[in-house]
Amino acid sequence: AFAVPAAVYMLQEQEVHAAEMERTFIAIKPDGVQRGLIAEIISRFERKGFKLVAIKIVVPSKGFAQKHYHDLKERPFFNGLCDFLSSGPVVAMVWEGEGVIKYGRKLIGATDPQKSEPGTIRGDLAIVVGRNIIHGSDGPETAKDEIKLWFKPEELVSYSSNAEKWIYG
Ligand code: ADP
Repeated sequence: AFAVPAAVYMLQEQEVHAAEMERTFIAIKPDGVQRGLIAEIISRFERKGFKLVAIKIVVPSKGFAQKHYHDLKERPFFNGLCDFLSSGPVVAMVWEGEGVIKYGRKLIGATDPQKSEPGTIRGDLAIVVGRNIIHGSDGPETAKDEIKLWFKPEELVSYSSNAEKWIYG
């Protein structure tokens, strides 16, 4: 048998670790972009220890917004919501980390900013439900679907960071 050099072994371990990590789709909606909150929002995910693996700024078409929110098509606010999402630039991102789907929702706060706790993104930075500045996938299935809708596979970057061993031990 061949001895595997320690450095190679560690690299493989890191790659495996990165490949198994959970991912979620996060979008800063047009209100968040126009209000200059991009860095503020990114910083909250980054400081927590989550890793940014995809990012772009786009103006979604109304049809695209309808696809993104297809689950809500029966709701009375659906049309206004899709008009709004397609009204200007959106920052689309994929964040990676242990428990990022559920904890990302915690960082974001309740849908209605009046009910979001202080300390959450919506609690600290928004007031009304129709202008709640950020979207985050609500579960593993929607995360997978939304990442696929917004990004091509080659736009997702897998990498390991040296901070990981300090974040995860
Ligand atoms: P979340 O974004 O927290 O996952 P939902 O999936 O229920 O919440 O709704 C999607 C988006 O639709 C919300 O973020 C909000 O922008 C908008 N929305 C939800 N409820 C209302 C409402 N009653 N009136 C206007 N807009 C709403």
